[in-house]
Amino acid sequence: MSIVDVRTPDPKRFIPGATGDWEVVIGMEVHAQVLSKSKLFSGASTEFGKPANSNVSLVDAAMPGMLPVINEECVKQAVRTGLGLKAQINKRSVFDRKNYFYPDLPQGYQISQYKDPVVGEGKVIISVGPDRQGQFEDIEIGIERLHLEQDAGKSMHDQHPTMSFVDLNRSGVALMEIVSKPDIRSSDEAKAYITKLRTILRYLGTCDGNMDEGSLRADVNVSVRKPGGEFGTRCEIKNMNSVRFIGQAIEYEARRQIAILEEGGTIDQETRLYDAGKGETRSMRSKEDAHDYRYFPDPDLLPLEFDDAFIEALKADLAELPDDKKERFVRDMGLSVYDASVLVSEKSIADFFEKLAAGRDGKIAANWVINDLLGALNKAGKDIEQTPVSADQLGGILDLLKSQTISGKIAKDLFEIVWTEGGNPAEIVEARGMKQVTDTGAIEKAVDEIIAANPDQVAKALAKPTLAGWFVGQVMKSTGGKANPQAVQALVKAKLGLPDEG
Ligand code: ADP
Ligand code: MG
Repeated sequence: MSIVDVRTPDPKRFIPGATGDWEVVIGMEVHAQVLSKSKLFSGASTEFGKPANSNVSLVDAAMPGMLPVINEECVKQAVRTGLGLKAQINKRSVFDRKNYFYPDLPQGYQISQYKDPVVGEGKVIISVGPDRQGQFEDIEIGIERLHLEQDAGKSMHDQHPTMSFVDLNRSGVALMEIVSKPDIRSSDEAKAYITKLRTILRYLGTCDGNMDEGSLRADVNVSVRKPGGEFGTRCEIKNMNSVRFIGQAIEYEARRQIAILEEGGTIDQETRLYDAGKGETRSMRSKEDAHDYRYFPDPDLLPLEFDDAFIEALKADLAELPDDKKERFVRDMGLSVYDASVLVSEKSIADFFEKLAAGRDGKIAANWVINDLLGALNKAGKDIEQTPVSADQLGGILDLLKSQTISGKIAKDLFEIVWTEGGNPAEIVEARGMKQVTDTGAIEKAVDEIIAANPDQVAKALAKPTLAGWFVGQVMKSTGGKANPQAVQALVKAKLGLPDEG
């Protein structure tokens, strides 16, 4: 494969070494489990966490004479993903056998796609930053291809003192292998890439993106070079299923390679494993080449062929993508790019926000989600899926604010109450007498009392009008935060005889 390098070297991302700066080059092969009820070529369930070998059909166990039957839904999911990656959809693609022996691979080969994958070149836009000036930068990472393939089973070495067991539940489950171009230039970019890819998959509903359950895992190819020079020999770190560990493994691996090269050594192309406990990568095996696998078209399966209508129908139904949603939030709701980015970063956050913002002021809703809700969730170590305050409840608080039933200060208290105790915000306000006092008579009385009791402060405020704020604070305090702050301010100024310039 010839690789055209499109990026200009960026000194911000260089790693210093004794013989000058080095640049790290990264390409990722991500395995994403297709969201589907049944496997790629059999009707067995894909449900996670079932007892070993309970989701296994005769096809998955590779009984002699069994024939694979393509699952159309899995093919559609791959095409949807291709569309989400702005990629070329290949109207004709071919399933090949990738031959190798392994105890968890009963067929003796994996059905995959080799020369003719279902999806060709595409792209993922990542945002990296902030830099020292607080700026974010958008970078395009090229997608080489996406192909469909079967997952293997799982060997279990911890069940018996002298024997290994095999669980075939995963055998035959559909995977999308998404191969990036070697366009990634730092561990931060690599983390941003896998995170963005996971977000896109979740928006599309084509993979649940649960790295803990192994639904999304990455092989990370790392090499180093002198900035802008020839690509170096790469090592492939296998089966990474944590964003944080991907970053750590790249940092370690780049420095390991730089140390070897600076001593005049050469890098062996090999497959390595990351040991998170030790924080280092170690050699697993030397890298095999494509010809080792004796690829050939699977004679049991016809090539996949699509017409335009098939692709167009999937395109018409495609879920809104995070970047499009972000643009819409900025364009239609007047949100800042930063706020919109935070809100679309996770589909579950975007869903919450959209439910909240429906029929309400988008900017106010965004502020409450970002500052109050996400802040509280972060502090409590919870995901938005576990939020104690639902979109309906927060919406209730915003409605009370909008109708000026409660003040901004009380709204924050109310949020706390709903967070810890639950309940309907309007009923809580009613039951606990939290309504804002807009009755000027009552506010006037409070203002008069405070002015009468504090002649020294009055003198100060007359000399320096900005000190009138002290009276506003006192009145708010004496009314338990329930007075309408605008009304208090106007009254304080009027009573002190200060000009009301707003
Ligand atoms: P293979 O099929 O042998 O694994 P590919 O050429 O398909 O090799 O590349 C696999 C992955 O390795 C791709 O994600 C690609 O971007 C990445 N890659 C290729 N060359 C390099 C390199 N020199 N440094 C880092 N990554 C690379
Ligand atoms: Mg590969």
